[in-house]
Amino acid sequence: MAVIDCDSPYPISGKGKVSYSFSSTATQAIANAVAKVQEQADVLAGLEALNHECRVECPHRSVSTAQYTITRRWSTWTSMWDLIASVFHFEWKYSGHVEFDWSANVRCGRPPHIGIEPPPSPFDLEPEGQPFKPGDFDMMSSTSGVRVLDSETQAAVPGVAVQFKVHSGPFRFDRGAQQARAVSDESGLASVPGTFLKTGASIVSATWADGTGPEAFFLRQSGATTFNLDIKGACDVSADDGNIRVRVHATDMAGRPVAGAKLKLEGQYDRRLSRTVVEGTVQDLGGGVYEGVLKAHEAGSLLLYVEDPLTEAAQSRWICVKPGKAAAIRIVGNTRPRIQQPYGEITLRTRLEDQFGNALDPARIVCSANGAEVPLQTVEHDEGRFVLVQKGHQTVDVVLSDKESEVTAQQPVEFPAVWLGRPGLVYEGDTYITPLYLAPPLEREVTEGQVKVRFDTKMVAFQKFSEAPDFKGTVERVTDAPGDTLLFNLAPEIALTAEKFPDGLYLGDVVWQCQGVGETCFSTSAILSPETPAYVDCLPQKARLAVACVCVNIIHPSFDHIPNRRTWERAINAIERRAQIFGTAISANVTRCCPHMSVRVQRTALSRQEIRQITQIVGTRGISAVSDSQKFSNPARFPNEPIEFGIRENCINIYVWPFSRANPNYRERGDTHIGPVAGRSTGLAGRCVIDPVVAANERYAVAHEMGHAMGLTHASAGGERFNLMWPQSNRGANLNEDQCKTIWAAQTTYPC
Ligand SMILES: [Zn+2]
Repeated sequence: MAVIDCDSPYPISGKGKVSYSFSSTATQAIANAVAKVQEQADVLAGLEALNHECRVECPHRSVSTAQYTITRRWSTWTSMWDLIASVFHFEWKYSGHVEFDWSANVRCGRPPHIGIEPPPSPFDLEPEGQPFKPGDFDMMSSTSGVRVLDSETQAAVPGVAVQFKVHSGPFRFDRGAQQARAVSDESGLASVPGTFLKTGASIVSATWADGTGPEAFFLRQSGATTFNLDIKGACDVSADDGNIRVRVHATDMAGRPVAGAKLKLEGQYDRRLSRTVVEGTVQDLGGGVYEGVLKAHEAGSLLLYVEDPLTEAAQSRWICVKPGKAAAIRIVGNTRPRIQQPYGEITLRTRLEDQFGNALDPARIVCSANGAEVPLQTVEHDEGRFVLVQKGHQTVDVVLSDKESEVTAQQPVEFPAVWLGRPGLVYEGDTYITPLYLAPPLEREVTEGQVKVRFDTKMVAFQKFSEAPDFKGTVERVTDAPGDTLLFNLAPEIALTAEKFPDGLYLGDVVWQCQGVGETCFSTSAILSPETPAYVDCLPQKARLAVACVCVNIIHPSFDHIPNRRTWERAINAIERRAQIFGTAISANVTRCCPHMSVRVQRTALSRQEIRQITQIVGTRGISAVSDSQKFSNPARFPNEPIEFGIRENCINIYVWPFSRANPNYRERGDTHIGPVAGRSTGLAGRCVIDPVVAANERYAVAHEMGHAMGLTHASAGGERFNLMWPQSNRGANLNEDQCKTIWAAQTTYPC
């Protein structure tokens, strides 16, 4: 039986001391403890030379037993066992840099085993090195290097052995080797020279000599590969045309033209307004000149982004796509004044658009109501807003026209005679109240009449009518299959006129009992000789549900295998909290008919091998273009390079992976595919990728991407700046009723 005792905790950094004691029969325990020192040969040599008091030169400051097996050690230690007493004690001190002081002496048996965890790696690696050596005109040689830094103080750490490895491409170390070692110097730099077997680029990584610790990836490229890209041509274009042509010039590190590069071109819109990405094509014209073509019909600022995926060289340039000719006037939002107070007016939100839906100046719109001009009240978010005020009941013919073209639009706006005020959210089984209103006719006095309310008995049961204090008349109920009708006989004491009641006369409250789930429609009219047209208004009645729960899987690189471990740990902890915000955001919108929502978060750590594979797919600088991010979010588009590690079915899978700073405009630094993913059982995609810094710092960024995964698109209309789905995502957590409907439809897609 193994017996080990630690008198003090194992030191992680700085000075410290650990002692181990063994019983005379604890042979395996000795092997275990000595394996803490990495270089076994040095330990043995030291013991023999210094008579059990020795100094061990350990080239590796990080102490770990992970890769040593006890059985392999045992045979080595048999001989030493014979040298010293049957029971012994030794201890070592951790003294700052690369040395361990220790000694051995005899002691009696000790209590049972207490486990020791290997300490986390205390260093970070920062890629360095020279792109090519001076005097090498073909630029076919290069050094690969990393700087070893203390992860707390960022101070250089000398004497650390670093292992380099070539993962792709024609770069090789001495004698064609794909791996090499170097020890960091006084400035913390560990570097090895190498050459390119032919022109190209390679992904190289560095990690500790024993294969543990963080792994830093970087790129080495030879001459005659793309180092710089220039974009020429293409200024402003009209959306009606939409053809954008650019010349791209590719040069290498010496400024010589590079032919034969496989460039990719994308157009990315200003991230505040759109998530649209347009993919272009690039043709090699020879001599380092390329022609890029893309088609864009959406107006706005468009960032042209060109990249050579082999060398990660990139360039970007803004152009402007102007709206085309006016083609239509569109009313957005509500055209029913009786839906909300004040009932006697409505704000019409109008847009002047080209054939692709791009907004033109809304101040060009002229509005008339029954032939009389209505002044433009405000212009906001490409909308011209007109306030229509109407007493009494009638249908107003609204005509909208463009001052500068023939474009017109017509919209009848109905101000009905009788309507029911809307209740809040109605659940199955609820009793709820709708106030009943009557708008008397214009220029006519009403002294008697009837009000009719027809309803669907399958959906709702009439309970009672609570009269308003000044209601005068009687109520009767007429059975009229398949619905029922309530008939209110009016006998007012004073004559009713539209002037006296511009927002309608409140007759009283109708009390209903909700009978079923679904749309409930009420048809209302007045008989004021003649009868007015029936007005129909419907409201949703909801099933009462327990709290819905959404499953979230955060997929991130294992902290043991990446530089900046502490930063990543903090980021993933923050992201987990940010994911919970989705639940509170949805639940906070219950009054807009959203369900109560909770979130269950799981984590999946990517292995060293998986991190390497993703790095080879998207490059060493992280995600820079849609073709990178969609390999995570919509892998079906990229059958040769899908990223599928760590996916949980029927869960919102959030990859956390850095977005490249080389692209100044990569959308909101998050990308979620909306729609089904081929070969997956999840109804919606449930797959997104997000930048760790953005996800951790922006309060609503993770919830925003989860919203996309639930099927929500961006909300960018005026007045929605605090919507969760506002494209610049960190503003607020509001949702509108349509968005809540979408959430309802998707809430069982990702069960906990
Ligand atoms: Zn978004």
